[in-house]
Amino acid sequence: MFRKPIQIALCLLVACVLSACDEVESPSAQPTATSTERVTLTLAETWGPNYPIFGDTTKHLAKMVDQMSNGRLKIRVDSANKHKSPLGVLDMVKAGQYDMGHSGSYYWKGKDPNTLYFTSMPFSMTTPEQLAWFYEGGGLELMQKVYGRHGLLSFPGGNTGNQMGGWFRKEINSLADFEGLKMRIPGFAGEIMAKLGAKPVNIAPGELFTALERNTIDALEWVGPSLDLRMGFHKIAPYYYTGWHEPGTELQFLVNRKSWDELPPDLREILRVAMRVAAYDMYVQTYHESALNWEAMKREYPDIQVKTFPPKVIQAMRKANDELLAEFAAADPLAKEIIDSQAAYLEKSRAWTAISDQAYLNSLERLAD
Ligand code: CA
Repeated sequence: MFRKPIQIALCLLVACVLSACDEVESPSAQPTATSTERVTLTLAETWGPNYPIFGDTTKHLAKMVDQMSNGRLKIRVDSANKHKSPLGVLDMVKAGQYDMGHSGSYYWKGKDPNTLYFTSMPFSMTTPEQLAWFYEGGGLELMQKVYGRHGLLSFPGGNTGNQMGGWFRKEINSLADFEGLKMRIPGFAGEIMAKLGAKPVNIAPGELFTALERNTIDALEWVGPSLDLRMGFHKIAPYYYTGWHEPGTELQFLVNRKSWDELPPDLREILRVAMRVAAYDMYVQTYHESALNWEAMKREYPDIQVKTFPPKVIQAMRKANDELLAEFAAADPLAKEIIDSQAAYLEKSRAWTAISDQAYLNSLERLAD
Protein backbone atom coordinates (compact mmCIF):
# COMPACT_ATOMS: atom_id res chain seq x y z
CA MET A 1 0.00 0.00 0.00
CA PHE A 2 3.00 2.30 0.34
CA ARG A 3 4.34 1.59 -3.13
CA LYS A 4 2.26 4.00 -5.11
CA PRO A 5 3.18 7.23 -3.31
CA ILE A 6 6.85 6.25 -3.36
CA GLN A 7 6.69 5.58 -7.10
CA ILE A 8 5.06 8.94 -7.73
CA ALA A 9 7.64 10.69 -5.57
CA LEU A 10 10.45 8.92 -7.47
CA CYS A 11 8.94 9.88 -10.82
CA LEU A 12 8.71 13.49 -9.74
CA LEU A 13 12.28 13.42 -8.49
CA VAL A 14 13.56 11.93 -11.77
CA ALA A 15 11.55 14.46 -13.79
CA CYS A 16 12.93 17.32 -11.68
CA VAL A 17 16.52 16.12 -12.03
CA LEU A 18 16.16 15.62 -15.77
CA SER A 19 14.56 18.99 -16.37
CA ALA A 20 17.20 20.69 -14.20
CA CYS A 21 19.90 19.00 -16.31
CA ASP A 22 18.19 20.23 -19.47
CA GLU A 23 18.18 23.80 -18.27
CA VAL A 24 21.82 23.80 -17.21
CA GLU A 25 23.44 21.74 -19.92
CA SER A 26 21.40 21.97 -23.07
CA PRO A 27 18.96 24.86 -23.26
CA SER A 28 18.68 24.83 -27.04
CA ALA A 29 17.56 21.23 -27.48
CA GLN A 30 14.57 21.38 -25.11
CA PRO A 31 14.54 17.62 -24.73
CA THR A 32 12.25 15.61 -22.49
CA ALA A 33 12.72 12.26 -20.79
CA THR A 34 10.48 10.70 -23.42
CA SER A 35 12.07 12.47 -26.38
CA THR A 36 11.56 10.67 -29.67
CA GLU A 37 13.95 12.90 -31.54
CA ARG A 38 16.20 11.06 -33.98
CA VAL A 39 19.76 12.25 -34.44
CA THR A 40 22.47 11.25 -36.90
CA LEU A 41 25.97 12.35 -36.01
CA THR A 42 28.74 12.31 -38.60
CA LEU A 43 32.20 11.03 -37.66
CA ALA A 44 35.44 11.48 -39.61
CA GLU A 45 38.14 8.91 -38.86
CA THR A 46 41.83 9.25 -39.66
CA TRP A 47 41.95 5.66 -40.87
CA GLY A 48 41.23 4.23 -44.31
CA PRO A 49 38.07 2.22 -45.02
CA ASN A 50 37.72 -0.98 -42.96
CA TYR A 51 41.08 -0.41 -41.27
CA PRO A 52 41.47 -3.26 -38.76
CA ILE A 53 40.98 -2.59 -35.03
CA PHE A 54 40.80 1.24 -35.27
CA GLY A 55 38.05 1.04 -37.90
CA ASP A 56 36.35 -1.77 -35.97
CA THR A 57 36.17 0.60 -33.01
CA THR A 58 34.16 3.29 -34.83
CA LYS A 59 31.86 0.65 -36.35
CA HIS A 60 31.38 -0.86 -32.90
CA LEU A 61 30.55 2.59 -31.47
CA ALA A 62 27.98 3.25 -34.21
CA LYS A 63 26.33 -0.13 -33.66
CA MET A 64 26.18 0.29 -29.89
CA VAL A 65 24.59 3.76 -29.92
CA ASP A 66 22.04 2.59 -32.49
CA GLN A 67 21.04 -0.42 -30.38
CA MET A 68 21.16 1.34 -27.01
CA SER A 69 18.98 4.20 -28.25
CA ASN A 70 16.56 1.95 -30.12
CA GLY A 71 17.53 3.65 -33.39
CA ARG A 72 17.24 7.22 -32.15
CA LEU A 73 20.97 7.90 -32.32
CA LYS A 74 23.00 6.95 -35.35
CA ILE A 75 26.60 7.67 -36.27
CA ARG A 76 27.66 7.85 -39.92
CA VAL A 77 31.37 7.07 -40.18
CA ASP A 78 33.43 8.54 -43.01
CA SER A 79 36.88 7.02 -43.53
CA ALA A 80 39.88 8.88 -44.99
CA ASN A 81 39.02 7.88 -48.57
CA LYS A 82 35.74 9.79 -48.21
CA HIS A 83 36.81 13.02 -46.49
CA LYS A 84 40.36 13.00 -47.98
CA SER A 85 41.88 14.62 -44.91
CA PRO A 86 43.23 11.98 -42.50
CA LEU A 87 45.29 14.52 -40.56
CA GLY A 88 42.62 17.24 -40.82
CA VAL A 89 40.10 15.58 -38.52
CA LEU A 90 40.48 18.14 -35.73
CA ASP A 91 39.89 21.05 -38.12
CA MET A 92 36.81 19.42 -39.63
CA VAL A 93 35.21 18.67 -36.24
CA LYS A 94 36.12 22.12 -34.93
CA ALA A 95 34.50 23.75 -37.98
CA GLY A 96 31.34 21.66 -37.53
CA GLN A 97 31.89 19.94 -40.87
CA TYR A 98 31.73 16.72 -38.81
CA ASP A 99 30.16 16.20 -35.38
CA MET A 100 32.81 13.73 -34.27
CA GLY A 101 36.28 12.42 -35.06
CA HIS A 102 38.35 9.34 -34.27
CA SER A 103 42.06 9.99 -34.34
CA GLY A 104 45.12 10.57 -32.15
CA SER A 105 45.54 13.65 -29.96
CA TYR A 106 49.27 13.94 -30.65
CA TYR A 107 48.61 14.56 -34.35
CA TRP A 108 47.49 18.10 -33.48
CA LYS A 109 50.66 19.58 -32.02
CA GLY A 110 50.81 22.11 -34.89
CA LYS A 111 47.32 23.32 -33.91
CA ASP A 112 47.93 23.32 -30.17
CA PRO A 113 51.10 21.91 -28.53
CA ASN A 114 49.11 20.98 -25.41
CA THR A 115 47.30 18.24 -27.35
CA LEU A 116 50.60 16.29 -27.33
CA TYR A 117 50.11 14.89 -23.83
CA PHE A 118 46.92 12.86 -24.28
CA THR A 119 48.03 9.94 -26.47
CA SER A 120 51.11 8.47 -24.79
CA MET A 121 54.26 10.06 -23.45
CA PRO A 122 57.75 8.56 -23.79
CA PHE A 123 59.04 6.91 -20.59
CA SER A 124 55.69 7.64 -18.96
CA MET A 125 52.57 5.70 -17.98
CA THR A 126 51.62 2.24 -19.23
CA THR A 127 48.04 1.62 -20.37
CA PRO A 128 46.45 0.76 -16.98
CA GLU A 129 48.37 3.56 -15.27
CA GLN A 130 47.27 6.08 -17.90
CA LEU A 131 43.64 4.90 -17.91
CA ALA A 132 43.58 5.41 -14.15
CA TRP A 133 45.03 8.91 -14.69
CA PHE A 134 42.38 9.75 -17.30
CA TYR A 135 39.37 8.53 -15.35
CA GLU A 136 40.42 8.96 -11.71
CA GLY A 137 43.55 11.07 -11.67
CA GLY A 138 42.35 14.29 -13.32
CA GLY A 139 43.56 13.50 -16.87
CA LEU A 140 40.15 13.74 -18.50
CA GLU A 141 39.54 17.17 -16.93
CA LEU A 142 42.90 18.43 -18.22
CA MET A 143 42.12 17.08 -21.69
CA GLN A 144 38.79 18.96 -21.71
CA LYS A 145 40.63 22.10 -20.59
CA VAL A 146 42.86 21.87 -23.68
CA TYR A 147 40.11 20.93 -26.15
CA GLY A 148 37.55 23.30 -24.63
CA ARG A 149 39.61 26.17 -26.07
CA HIS A 150 38.76 24.81 -29.51
CA GLY A 151 35.04 24.25 -28.90
CA LEU A 152 35.67 20.50 -28.67
CA LEU A 153 35.44 17.61 -26.24
CA SER A 154 37.92 14.74 -26.34
CA PHE A 155 37.46 11.27 -24.82
CA PRO A 156 39.72 8.21 -24.64
CA GLY A 157 39.19 6.39 -27.96
CA GLY A 158 40.85 2.99 -27.56
CA ASN A 159 44.29 1.89 -26.44
CA THR A 160 46.91 -0.07 -28.37
CA GLY A 161 48.93 -1.02 -25.31
CA ASN A 162 52.70 -0.66 -25.34
CA GLN A 163 53.90 0.10 -28.87
CA MET A 164 56.97 -1.30 -30.60
CA GLY A 165 59.82 1.14 -31.24
CA GLY A 166 59.58 0.82 -35.00
CA TRP A 167 61.10 -0.62 -38.15
CA PHE A 168 64.64 0.23 -39.24
CA ARG A 169 66.62 -0.70 -42.35
CA LYS A 170 69.83 -0.89 -40.34
CA GLU A 171 70.70 -1.82 -36.81
CA ILE A 172 70.97 1.10 -34.35
CA ASN A 173 74.25 0.71 -32.47
CA SER A 174 74.83 4.23 -31.23
CA LEU A 175 73.36 7.74 -31.26
CA ALA A 176 75.36 8.45 -34.42
CA ASP A 177 72.95 6.16 -36.29
CA PHE A 178 70.13 8.66 -35.64
CA GLU A 179 71.99 11.53 -37.32
CA GLY A 180 69.93 12.64 -40.33
CA LEU A 181 67.64 9.58 -40.05
CA LYS A 182 64.28 10.40 -41.64
CA MET A 183 61.73 8.70 -39.45
CA ARG A 184 57.96 8.78 -39.24
CA ILE A 185 57.41 9.24 -35.53
CA PRO A 186 54.71 11.61 -34.24
CA GLY A 187 54.13 13.14 -30.82
CA PHE A 188 56.59 14.00 -28.09
CA ALA A 189 58.86 11.16 -29.24
CA GLY A 190 59.30 13.05 -32.52
CA GLU A 191 60.56 16.04 -30.54
CA ILE A 192 63.08 13.79 -28.80
CA MET A 193 64.30 12.27 -32.06
CA ALA A 194 64.78 15.78 -33.50
CA LYS A 195 66.86 16.76 -30.46
CA LEU A 196 69.01 13.67 -31.07
CA GLY A 197 69.72 14.61 -34.69
CA ALA A 198 67.01 12.66 -36.55
CA LYS A 199 64.46 14.18 -38.93
CA PRO A 200 61.05 13.17 -37.61
CA VAL A 201 57.96 13.51 -39.78
CA ASN A 202 54.33 12.54 -39.49
CA ILE A 203 52.70 10.78 -42.41
CA ALA A 204 49.09 9.64 -42.74
CA PRO A 205 48.68 5.90 -42.02
CA GLY A 206 47.60 5.14 -45.61
CA GLU A 207 50.91 6.44 -47.03
CA LEU A 208 53.35 4.75 -44.64
CA PHE A 209 54.41 1.77 -46.76
CA THR A 210 54.91 3.84 -49.92
CA ALA A 211 56.96 6.42 -48.00
CA LEU A 212 59.25 3.67 -46.71
CA GLU A 213 59.45 1.89 -50.06
CA ARG A 214 60.33 5.10 -51.94
CA ASN A 215 62.94 6.20 -49.39
CA THR A 216 60.94 9.27 -48.39
CA ILE A 217 61.67 7.95 -44.90
CA ASP A 218 64.40 5.61 -43.61
CA ALA A 219 62.47 4.24 -40.63
CA LEU A 220 59.05 4.39 -39.05
CA GLU A 221 57.05 3.41 -36.07
CA TRP A 222 53.39 2.53 -36.37
CA VAL A 223 51.82 0.41 -33.61
CA GLY A 224 52.99 -3.14 -32.92
CA PRO A 225 52.32 -6.68 -34.12
CA SER A 226 48.55 -6.10 -33.90
CA LEU A 227 48.73 -3.88 -36.98
CA ASP A 228 52.30 -3.66 -38.30
CA LEU A 229 52.71 -7.04 -39.98
CA ARG A 230 49.80 -6.59 -42.39
CA MET A 231 51.38 -3.29 -43.48
CA GLY A 232 54.43 -5.13 -44.87
CA PHE A 233 57.10 -2.87 -43.34
CA HIS A 234 59.30 -5.88 -42.53
CA LYS A 235 59.93 -6.45 -46.25
CA ILE A 236 61.96 -3.23 -46.38
CA ALA A 237 63.07 -2.57 -42.81
CA PRO A 238 63.64 -5.89 -40.99
CA TYR A 239 65.01 -4.51 -37.67
CA TYR A 240 62.05 -4.33 -35.29
CA TYR A 241 62.82 -2.48 -32.06
CA THR A 242 61.07 -2.76 -28.73
CA GLY A 243 59.27 0.30 -27.42
CA TRP A 244 60.26 3.33 -25.36
CA HIS A 245 58.19 6.12 -26.88
CA GLU A 246 54.52 5.07 -26.57
CA PRO A 247 54.01 2.85 -23.51
CA GLY A 248 50.21 3.09 -23.66
CA THR A 249 48.82 4.79 -26.75
CA GLU A 250 45.26 6.06 -26.38
CA LEU A 251 43.34 7.13 -29.47
CA GLN A 252 40.67 9.80 -29.10
CA PHE A 253 37.04 10.47 -29.86
CA LEU A 254 36.60 14.15 -30.68
CA VAL A 255 33.14 15.69 -30.32
CA ASN A 256 32.08 19.14 -31.46
CA ARG A 257 30.86 20.89 -28.31
CA LYS A 258 27.76 22.32 -29.98
CA SER A 259 26.74 18.90 -31.37
CA TRP A 260 27.20 17.43 -27.87
CA ASP A 261 25.16 20.16 -26.18
CA GLU A 262 22.31 19.74 -28.64
CA LEU A 263 21.88 16.03 -27.88
CA PRO A 264 19.02 15.14 -25.52
CA PRO A 265 20.53 14.10 -22.15
CA ASP A 266 19.74 10.40 -22.56
CA LEU A 267 21.40 10.23 -26.00
CA ARG A 268 24.38 12.16 -24.65
CA GLU A 269 24.75 9.57 -21.88
CA ILE A 270 24.38 6.71 -24.38
CA LEU A 271 27.14 8.27 -26.50
CA ARG A 272 29.40 8.81 -23.47
CA VAL A 273 29.00 5.22 -22.27
CA ALA A 274 29.33 3.74 -25.77
CA MET A 275 32.57 5.66 -26.38
CA ARG A 276 33.96 4.29 -23.12
CA VAL A 277 32.96 0.71 -23.97
CA ALA A 278 34.27 1.01 -27.55
CA ALA A 279 37.59 2.29 -26.19
CA TYR A 280 37.82 -0.56 -23.67
CA ASP A 281 36.97 -3.15 -26.31
CA MET A 282 39.67 -1.79 -28.61
CA TYR A 283 42.27 -2.34 -25.89
CA VAL A 284 41.08 -5.93 -25.48
CA GLN A 285 41.05 -6.53 -29.24
CA THR A 286 44.53 -5.05 -29.69
CA TYR A 287 45.97 -7.18 -26.91
CA HIS A 288 44.48 -10.28 -28.50
CA GLU A 289 45.72 -9.43 -32.00
CA SER A 290 49.18 -8.56 -30.67
CA ALA A 291 49.49 -11.93 -28.96
CA LEU A 292 48.30 -13.85 -32.03
CA ASN A 293 50.47 -11.91 -34.47
CA TRP A 294 53.57 -12.03 -32.30
CA GLU A 295 53.35 -15.80 -32.29
CA ALA A 296 52.68 -15.89 -36.06
CA MET A 297 55.54 -13.47 -36.74
CA LYS A 298 58.14 -15.71 -35.14
CA ARG A 299 56.86 -18.64 -37.20
CA GLU A 300 56.13 -16.99 -40.55
CA TYR A 301 58.71 -14.19 -40.71
CA PRO A 302 61.89 -15.59 -39.12
CA ASP A 303 63.98 -12.92 -40.88
CA ILE A 304 62.59 -10.13 -38.72
CA GLN A 305 65.29 -9.10 -36.26
CA VAL A 306 63.80 -8.10 -32.90
CA LYS A 307 66.11 -5.68 -31.10
CA THR A 308 66.21 -3.36 -28.12
CA PHE A 309 68.04 -0.03 -28.36
CA PRO A 310 71.41 -0.06 -26.55
CA PRO A 311 71.25 1.30 -22.97
CA LYS A 312 73.34 4.37 -23.94
CA VAL A 313 70.83 5.27 -26.67
CA ILE A 314 67.89 4.86 -24.29
CA GLN A 315 69.72 6.92 -21.68
CA ALA A 316 70.19 9.76 -24.21
CA MET A 317 66.52 9.56 -25.24
CA ARG A 318 65.48 9.82 -21.62
CA LYS A 319 67.77 12.78 -20.96
CA ALA A 320 66.39 14.58 -24.04
CA ASN A 321 62.86 13.75 -22.83
CA ASP A 322 63.48 15.30 -19.41
CA GLU A 323 65.04 18.42 -20.93
CA LEU A 324 62.17 18.87 -23.38
CA LEU A 325 59.53 18.41 -20.66
CA ALA A 326 61.24 21.16 -18.63
CA GLU A 327 61.30 23.43 -21.70
CA PHE A 328 57.64 22.81 -22.58
CA ALA A 329 56.56 23.32 -18.94
CA ALA A 330 58.45 26.61 -18.70
CA ALA A 331 56.86 27.89 -21.91
CA ASP A 332 53.17 27.42 -21.01
CA PRO A 333 51.33 27.25 -17.64
CA LEU A 334 48.77 24.73 -18.92
CA ALA A 335 51.56 22.50 -20.30
CA LYS A 336 53.18 22.68 -16.85
CA GLU A 337 49.91 21.71 -15.17
CA ILE A 338 49.56 18.64 -17.43
CA ILE A 339 53.23 17.60 -17.20
CA ASP A 340 53.17 17.95 -13.38
CA SER A 341 49.91 15.99 -13.14
CA GLN A 342 51.33 13.16 -15.26
CA ALA A 343 54.62 13.07 -13.32
CA ALA A 344 52.83 12.92 -9.96
CA TYR A 345 50.43 10.22 -11.16
CA LEU A 346 53.24 8.19 -12.73
CA GLU A 347 55.10 8.17 -9.42
CA LYS A 348 52.05 6.97 -7.47
CA SER A 349 50.81 4.41 -9.98
CA ARG A 350 54.28 3.04 -10.82
CA ALA A 351 54.99 2.21 -7.19
CA TRP A 352 51.91 0.00 -7.28
CA THR A 353 52.78 -1.49 -10.70
CA ALA A 354 56.23 -2.34 -9.38
CA ILE A 355 54.98 -4.29 -6.38
CA SER A 356 52.04 -5.91 -8.23
CA ASP A 357 52.58 -6.79 -11.92
CA GLN A 358 56.33 -6.31 -11.99
CA ALA A 359 57.01 -8.23 -8.77
CA TYR A 360 54.74 -11.04 -9.99
CA LEU A 361 56.55 -11.33 -13.35
CA ASN A 362 59.97 -11.04 -11.73
CA SER A 363 59.16 -13.81 -9.27
CA LEU A 364 58.24 -16.13 -12.15
CA GLU A 365 61.36 -15.17 -14.07
CA ARG A 366 63.51 -16.07 -11.09
CA LEU A 367 61.85 -19.51 -11.01
CA ALA A 368 62.96 -20.14 -14.58
CA ASP A 369 66.65 -19.45 -13.72
CA1 CA B 1 52.75 4.83 -32.89
